[in-house]
Amino acid sequence: MSTAVPLIVRVLASSVSVAGKAGKIVRDVMSKGELGIVEKGKDDYQTEADRSAQRCIIASLSAQYPKVNIIGEEDNPDNEGDISSEWLAVDADKEILSIECPSFLKGVKEEDIVIWVDPLDGTSEYTQGALMLKRDPWERWKMYLSHPLISIKWYLSLLQSHYGFLEHVTVLIGISVNEKPVAGVIHQPYFKSLIDGEKKIGRTIWGLQEVGVGGYTAAPPPDSLVITTTRSHSNPIVEKALQVMNASQILRVGGAGYKVLQLLEGVASIYVFASPGCKKWDTCAPEAILNAAGGKLTDILGNYYKYGASVTKPNKTGVLAAVNNDLHTYALNRIPQELKDKLASSK
Ligand code: AMP
Ligand code: MG
Ligand code: MG
Repeated sequence: MSTAVPLIVRVLASSVSVAGKAGKIVRDVMSKGELGIVEKGKDDYQTEADRSAQRCIIASLSAQYPKVNIIGEEDNPDNEGDISSEWLAVDADKEILSIECPSFLKGVKEEDIVIWVDPLDGTSEYTQGALMLKRDPWERWKMYLSHPLISIKWYLSLLQSHYGFLEHVTVLIGISVNEKPVAGVIHQPYFKSLIDGEKKIGRTIWGLQEVGVGGYTAAPPPDSLVITTTRSHSNPIVEKALQVMNASQILRVGGAGYKVLQLLEGVASIYVFASPGCKKWDTCAPEAILNAAGGKLTDILGNYYKYGASVTKPNKTGVLAAVNNDLHTYALNRIPQELKDKLASSK
């Protein structure tokens, strides 16, 4: 790779490449059928796909950029350091390499960069989607019985939704410089498309501050107010913040990455999550891409998160994101002060 290309552009180009590789790992683990689910905490799970995809991303990026600080969601993916060469992606996306680097990012050094990695955003949806890929009803029932995540009510509703939840799954690589999210990649391993008559699976969306976004077709926000929020981590405060929005529709989907994709593609206008559950790896890439597309992501109080290496990982004061500044201000003003105080005091 030419070193004449500024570092931040090379890091983004490498991130685009490795995100596609991680997405293939996510699909491969699913096809093999052994998800290896581990419970990390309440409503918080990890699978073999989360572990393997993270090992692939971190090993690949740190081999190329040894002084960049890379922080991944998964604590100790087993066999760390023992990466087979087929999992190393050290190539870089050609289209990204040809981007003109914004002048304020030209002098960035490896030491200035912190990369936040969520190898699989939407793990609940991944495991529930897995269940539905089992064509044989008996096999599906057996898998359900060994599944720690879902109630019988969910099982019955899942039977009607089939593949749907897998679209919520994303691989997130967020690139921050001096604490600010400046570039990011959202890869969607199960996105299906037809290009020149050929069926494709997976797509990669990227963004770079002052340059823009790529990998999808932008669309304006819906005419009426559509809010997107969590489908698996709700609570009374989350619901209260939704009620006050006066929305015509509330979409409940998985993953921070997928919700921001809904904003970018004109499916929803505002993403509201008044709860401390999201972490820096959930919001770094989505925030960078949304910014590059003219949107805004903050906490529920309207403050930006910082993404330096020493920040606390949880986004304790929630997430409020919108396709533009006006809609962000609208939502911010609608949230009662009492609710903002409650979230702020739970810090
Ligand atoms: P959701 O919108 O519920 O799909 O959450 C977006 C991201 O934040 C996912 O990566 C979740 O794992 C994480 N998250 C949100 N709430 C929680 C929670 N209560 N516990 C653990 N993780 C959470
Ligand atoms: Mg996540
Ligand atoms: Mg994750």
